[in-house]
Formats: sequence, C-alpha cells, structure tokens
Amino acid sequence: MESRVVGVLGAGQLGRMFVEAASRLNVQVRLLDAGQSAPAKQICFVPSASNPAQSEHVDGSFADPEKIKQLAEKVDVLTIEIEHVDARQLQAVLDAGIVKEVHPLPATIALIQDKYAQKKHLIAHGLPVADFVSVGSESALPKDPAAAAKEQLEGVAAAGRSFGFPLMLKSRTQAYDGKGNFVVKEGGKAIEGIEALGNGTRGLYAEKWAPFVKEVAVMVVRSSTGEVRAYPAVETVHRDNICHTVIAPLRYGKDATVGQRAREIAEKAVATFGGAGVFGVELFLMEDGELLINEIAPRPHNSGHYTIEAAETSQYENHLRAILGLPLGGTALKVPATCMVNILGLADLDKDKDAILKTMAPAVASLTVPGATVHLYGKVGCRKGRKMGHITVVAQSDAELHARMEPILHALETAIE
Ligand code: ATP
Ligand code: MG
Ligand code: MG
Repeated sequence: MESRVVGVLGAGQLGRMFVEAASRLNVQVRLLDAGQSAPAKQICFVPSASNPAQSEHVDGSFADPEKIKQLAEKVDVLTIEIEHVDARQLQAVLDAGIVKEVHPLPATIALIQDKYAQKKHLIAHGLPVADFVSVGSESALPKDPAAAAKEQLEGVAAAGRSFGFPLMLKSRTQAYDGKGNFVVKEGGKAIEGIEALGNGTRGLYAEKWAPFVKEVAVMVVRSSTGEVRAYPAVETVHRDNICHTVIAPLRYGKDATVGQRAREIAEKAVATFGGAGVFGVELFLMEDGELLINEIAPRPHNSGHYTIEAAETSQYENHLRAILGLPLGGTALKVPATCMVNILGLADLDKDKDAILKTMAPAVASLTVPGATVHLYGKVGCRKGRKMGHITVVAQSDAELHARMEPILHALETAIE
C-alpha cells in the first residue's frame, strides 16, 4: 500500500506506539534516538543491508544536526515524537532535498517548542489563553545569564503587579511534565523560581494563575491538505504536574456545550499551523465555563493514548495516515466510556529495591479486569515519576467503568502507601 519510509526523531513510548500502528500497515520506520535500546527501537529491529547484525536505526540525539541528516538520508518522510528537536536542521534537510517531506513543518515545530512564541501566535489568531508576559528580555536563550537573571527578577515583580500572586513562572523552551514550571507563591519567592529555572540561562515568561475547575484535552488530526478533525474532548487529571488519568468523553454536568466548544477551539488552533499530523491541545476549563488553551503539542500525546482501544482510529494511525497523505480515519469513540491511567515510577530503583514491583502493581491488577489493556514501554530501571506504561479500560457505561477502574486504582493506592 505504501512504499515510502518514515523517519521519526525520538524513540520513546510515543514512537513505540507509532511503530506498532505503522507495522500493521506495512510502513517501514527508521528511528533516531540516543538510546540504542530505546522503547521504540526494541520492537522494530531493522537489519542493516551491509551488516545484518547492525540496525538501520540511528543512535544519537534528535537535537544533533549530523544525526538528523543521517536519518534523513535513509527515509522519504520525517516526523517527530518529541518537539525538543533541532528544527533548523529539519528545515535544512528539507531545503536540500535530502528528504521529501517533514511533518509537521519545521516552522511549526520551532514555533511550538518555544511556549512563549506559541502563546503569542495563539493570541494573534484570536484564540483564548491565560494572560501572560515575558519576564526580562524577550530572548529564548539569553547571552549574559547574570544580567538576564537580574532582569528576570524585575520581570517577575512587574508580572506580580499585573497578575497578582500566585503566578506561574515558565521556561520558554525544553519544558515537559511540568519541569520548566515554578509556582511563585509570593513576590519574595521570585528568586527561588529564577534559580530553579536556569538562573538566567533560559528565557522565561509569567502566566496569570488559572484556577481551573478541570483540565481538558483534545487531540486533533490535520491532513496534508489542511483538513482538521478533532477527537472527543477528554478530562485530564495531573498529579505533581504529570498527567495521571484521562477520562473520555468529558463529563461536565454544569454545561453541556463544553466538550463541543473545546473541540472547536482545538480545531481552530490546529488549523493555524503548517504541516500534517496529530496535535494535542491542552485546555483549562474555568468556573464560568470559559476555556483557555494551556499549550499545544505537535505530535501524539499522553491524553490521546485512550484512542488505541476506544476510538475508531488511534492517534498513532491517524498521525501516520496524515503525514503520508492517506485518507484520515474516524475520530469518534467506539465505546460509551473509557479511562486511561499512567503507570508512573513510584520510587527510584537505587533507593528502593521493590520500586519496579510496586510500580507494576496496577498493571498486574489490570490483568483480571475485563476491558482493560496494559501497555508497558520497556524502559530500563525505574525512576520516581517516570512514565513506565499505561492502562486503558473501556466500558459500556460510567458505572461499569467505575467498577472496572476500582481494583486498578486500589492496587495503585496500596502500592503508594
Ligand atoms: P507537558 O508535559 O504537558 O508538556 P509542561 O511541562 O509543558 O507539560 P504545562 O502544560 O505548561 O507544562 O503545565 C503543567 C501543568 O501545570 C498543567 O497541566 C496545569 O496543571 C498546571 N498549570 C500550567 N499553567 C498553569 C497556570 N497558568 N495556572 C494554573 N496551573 C497551571
Ligand atoms: Mg508542554
Ligand atoms: Mg502540558
């Protein structure tokens, strides 16, 4: 059906589930990741033509221009499973004709990887976001860190005067799982936040605190011709800044329009970006029903894992179809109710010899639960908070979903104690 070879920058769990989808359609994939046995590489060994003992995948960083070029030389279409890549090099290999297509466009990846630039883009397109302001100079990578840290201190004070405290101080780049965020509870804590976020080595911005009632996410697939199709709106629950559970479809008794409004905002936002693929749109639902976009990911997303078992077409298959210009698959739910729970490392293995046993307790419990599917990512060792796998449960009703989730969540809470 498809002879073009796809290259992916990154080979973590998202790449692993992408490879699973590609293998069903006989699409060849080559991966670039520093880990020789990264999660996606483990399930997709491609022997090299010259030396069958060696793999065709590339070992190296997705931020290394030379390694990106090496991958580009092996494939027809390039895509990403993480946005912290060298977007300039992606543009260069495209311009040089080394690769025919890059999805989403390198300009889209560059825009989204700088969360401050992303927010300015959304505002310029009339999309709703929490109030925000640059802290210190508008540079993503300040040249003089000492001077930048001083400016940032004045910047947080100015943001506090406009937004009040607490406020959310955010790193413009390299953010994931809340690692680039610091809650500044009062003016006196600004210095702590600046130190925690690179002490002047990275550009920062401040966001007004969003006292949301729920967090909502919408996956959107965008075809190469610009058609956008939203999946259902879902509720995401974060613990310590890391996605913990996802419930679909979104339930919100107070306002039946929320889900549809979230989908419309997400589609409108994704329509402003260039290139094909799936995008994850994170939103805050406010007390008065207003929806604000928190941020957008230019790739498959944790809040879309549930689509593998619960939607007509998974986010991974739709990403593949989109980047290859194949017809998009349906985005509707196949079941009335579904819940995904992440399996996060409960302890560091070097501090607790039972770390893996405890972490895997919910996965073991899920094996006897009807409608449950467990996905383990093949990560070596165990670190607290690390994404080790996830479980998706499908059900015919909310009551059935609750009953099915109960033993899994019980195993998790028992393991935490
Ligand atoms: P991801 O892993 O999703 O890429 P990230 O590191 O880019 O995360 P954000 O999505 O910006 O971080 O924030 C992480 C979480 O912090 C959000 O899901 C939300 O719970 C909380 N948060 C972010 N911004 C605000 C805000 N302005 N007000 C209140 N809470 C916030
Ligand atoms: Mg993010
Ligand atoms: Mg986020």
